[in-house]
Amino acid sequence: MATGTSLSTVFPLGSRLDERGVLLVGGCDALELAREFGTPAYVVAEDDLLARARAFVAGARQRHPDMHVVFASKAFPCTAVLSLFAQEGLWCDVATGGELFLALNAGFAPERIVMHGNAKSQAELRMALRHRVGLIVIDNFTEIERLGELIADGALADRGSEGGQPVLLRVTPDVRGETHEKISTGQADSKFGFSVEEAVQAAARVRAQSGLSLVGLHAHIGSQLLDLEPFRRAASALAGLAAESELGVLDIGGGLGVRYLEDQPEAPSIEDYLDAVVAAAGAHRGRLLIEPGRALTANAGVTLYTVESIRENVSRWVAVDGGMSDNLRPMLYDARYEAHVVGRFGGDTDCVLAGKHCESGDVIVREARLADPQPGDVVVTPATGAYGFAMANNYNGVPRPPVVFCRDGNARVVVRRESFEDLTARDEPRSREIAIGGGAG
Ligand code: PLP
Repeated sequence: MATGTSLSTVFPLGSRLDERGVLLVGGCDALELAREFGTPAYVVAEDDLLARARAFVAGARQRHPDMHVVFASKAFPCTAVLSLFAQEGLWCDVATGGELFLALNAGFAPERIVMHGNAKSQAELRMALRHRVGLIVIDNFTEIERLGELIADGALADRGSEGGQPVLLRVTPDVRGETHEKISTGQADSKFGFSVEEAVQAAARVRAQSGLSLVGLHAHIGSQLLDLEPFRRAASALAGLAAESELGVLDIGGGLGVRYLEDQPEAPSIEDYLDAVVAAAGAHRGRLLIEPGRALTANAGVTLYTVESIRENVSRWVAVDGGMSDNLRPMLYDARYEAHVVGRFGGDTDCVLAGKHCESGDVIVREARLADPQPGDVVVTPATGAYGFAMANNYNGVPRPPVVFCRDGNARVVVRRESFEDLTARDEPRSREIAIGGGAG
């Protein structure tokens, strides 16, 4: 195996440049991956996912007798990723019926599934009850009524004397973390959960509802948090409330941030994060749950693109074959990424790395510095393993990219590239056959 320059922690563990300067991910040559699987492509180092999952699970076990790591599946709702985490003993956070379906299909035991959502439909709640998910996190008063109606309608009839459905109440502890307002959720005026005052009332209503068993509290204060202090405050506020209400389960949510850029400081380590939440939960001896999403997957993945055109006016516009259909985060909340020409890392040409979609805002990296990019070059953006695949779409009829797992120099497709035919797969009546020269891409 080639030796070479190792890369910053923005890239998947074990990534490096070989002696020719070509990027290796999971031991695989990124230029060969682009040739074999086409671009854009999500490339994931399987060992990176495993290492992070194991660090979370082992770290939780060492610090607390009953602490579990619940993968926030919204970060990367791909069956191969979900199955890997299910096998590693993680639990799964789902927020819709679709995510519940994916989690069950990937092999998560229902009792290890936590069902979230601020607008759960009756059908989604029925599905959660029917599959006996471990926990339903109640978000609002309407949901308590809905669950009551479903129970009155016999939704628990097959449970016999097993007892009711365990539920948590989602509370907003009014802890605000330093992050983009669009991914901040812990403040008082949030669309999610009960205020602390409302939670008291909600607890009384749930306790009065036969068939529901109130076992604990949940809070998720926001995402991409790089400071541990808000987690400490949220965990300690939640532990205090749980103690007052004699509740055994505390679910502290997700939100641990990651490093997206080499010139950004390191994010807190998994160990420091676990130390912080366990210490802040203090005397809580019941069950402790955490729900990392991006901290498990973001840095495990990179996206490969091919440069299609270069345009020079005020800026040097380097347009690639993907963009807002495979990574919506820069457009949604100004998320920043870095980019490199695969095979020529470390350039100094100031460029705007733009996507191919018909929106001026379709810019992946506003301030990219690339090594004299040319049409046909393969470009990599690291740290795209969270919320890229999840938010992918078909804007401008662009087929969604494949997911390629790499390990020990071997690559395998775990999600195939969409075809043009997939774009019409739901049409009624079925569309005509159209000849396509050279495939979707
Ligand atoms: N838990 C809940 C309830 C969430 O809403 C989210 C993200 O939106 C997460 C966990 C995961 O967040 P992150 O990916 O930032 O860890």
